[in-house]
Amino acid sequence: MMSLENFRKETKDWLQANCPESMRQPIRSEADICWGGRNWTFASDDQKLWLERMAERGWTVPTWPTEYGGGGLSKDEAFVLKEELKAINARSPLDSFGIWMLGPALLKYGTHEQKLKFLPPIARGEIRWCQGYSEPGAGSDLVSLRTKGVLDGDHYTVNGQKVWTSYADQSDWIFALVRTEADAPKYNGISFLLIDMDQPGVTTKPIKLISGKSPFCETFFDDAKALVENRVGDAGQGWEIAKYLLSHERAGIVSEAAFGGLNPVSAAHQSGEVEADGKMSDPILRGDVARLTIDGLAFEATMRRVKEEADHGEGVGARASLLKYMGTELNKRRNELNMSALGSDGLLWEGEKESDGDPARSWLRSRANSIEGGTSEINLNIVAKRVLNLPGA
Ligand SMILES: Cc1cc2nc3c(=O)[nH]c(=O)nc-3n(C[C@H](O)[C@H](O)[C@H](O)COP(=O)(O)OP(=O)(O)OC[C@H]3O[C@@H](n4cnc5c(N)ncnc54)[C@H](O)[C@@H]3O)c2cc1C
Repeated sequence: MMSLENFRKETKDWLQANCPESMRQPIRSEADICWGGRNWTFASDDQKLWLERMAERGWTVPTWPTEYGGGGLSKDEAFVLKEELKAINARSPLDSFGIWMLGPALLKYGTHEQKLKFLPPIARGEIRWCQGYSEPGAGSDLVSLRTKGVLDGDHYTVNGQKVWTSYADQSDWIFALVRTEADAPKYNGISFLLIDMDQPGVTTKPIKLISGKSPFCETFFDDAKALVENRVGDAGQGWEIAKYLLSHERAGIVSEAAFGGLNPVSAAHQSGEVEADGKMSDPILRGDVARLTIDGLAFEATMRRVKEEADHGEGVGARASLLKYMGTELNKRRNELNMSALGSDGLLWEGEKESDGDPARSWLRSRANSIEGGTSEINLNIVAKRVLNLPGA
């Protein structure tokens, strides 16, 4: 095996030679993110090239096994890759619910055939996935979900409705929680089904939001078909798989949320808040920026500690709730502070440049961090019960 130093050198050289210049800039807005999928239109030739080159090496999913489209890297090598990508400001070549949520669940619970069928296309960005968990009346109380699947030979016939399905109208497949065992107790009656959305029984309806932009949809199943071979795990095992996937979703929200491109110090420079000696003139702003920076570093250290402990044990588990809560609070503060530092410039909503209005939109978007992937209250309940073992929780 190659030493880590050699791996770093080789990686650095490869990235220098292969990462297009325009992909070495922070993601400024949704338009810069590459989601992939059957109907994906690339924002630029460079975006396409960057995805192809990274996917060919398996580096869109560096630690997945090579037979499933991954890079087969050790955790240490993957960390080096991440550091080297960060050193050149490289954009993520692919963002996807498949990589972030479904992949880990399939790696743990899927059959070899399911892994072969679904993981390589996820790694190459060929299938775009959405998440069918929430329903009207079953958000925080997810286990009350009512979408029903009835076994009919080689498939389930699925009927019901999901809500808040992000990007459902642009997705190819959905991973959905469906009640398939009508007579079983609540927690044991749910199955985890992979459903092709390109069929007559699946429709989506976008939901509009106050911010003017919305990823949200309602998703309807009317006698939709889900092949039994596309059920992950056993019939009735869905709740266990759902929780495992949620721990990845929560950890993922945090890594996105806590380390986004926003930087209140640059915002202060932009609005003339920084004096010639590099000091911010407003002492309150200065104090807030210092506190946020220190809390950010402490959070990063905690994330690293939890991840390292998890690598030697049972995974992140319920501690994902702790990270999710802390990380999303931090991201909301970062956005608030960014807006304060920008002063009246932060109020811009639209302008000549595509990026005009990004801070305000990002601030609005950050409000949702403490709702998506389970609300703060629900995550604090989990921390009380399963991390701290508090009496009565
Ligand atoms: C940006 C974003 C993207 C999302 N994307 C998806 C997606 O792709 N797929 C998907 O399936 N869902 C998605 N969701 C939905 C999300 O998972 C739910 O909104 C969330 O689980 C909360 O459910 P709810 O909206 O039904 O609120 P409710 O469950 O009705 O909660 C309302 C309020 O009551 C509180 N509450 C409820 N129960 C308790 C309790 N026991 N103790 C204390 N407080 C409680 C909650 O914390 C909350 O403040 C998304 C949401 C957001 C904001």
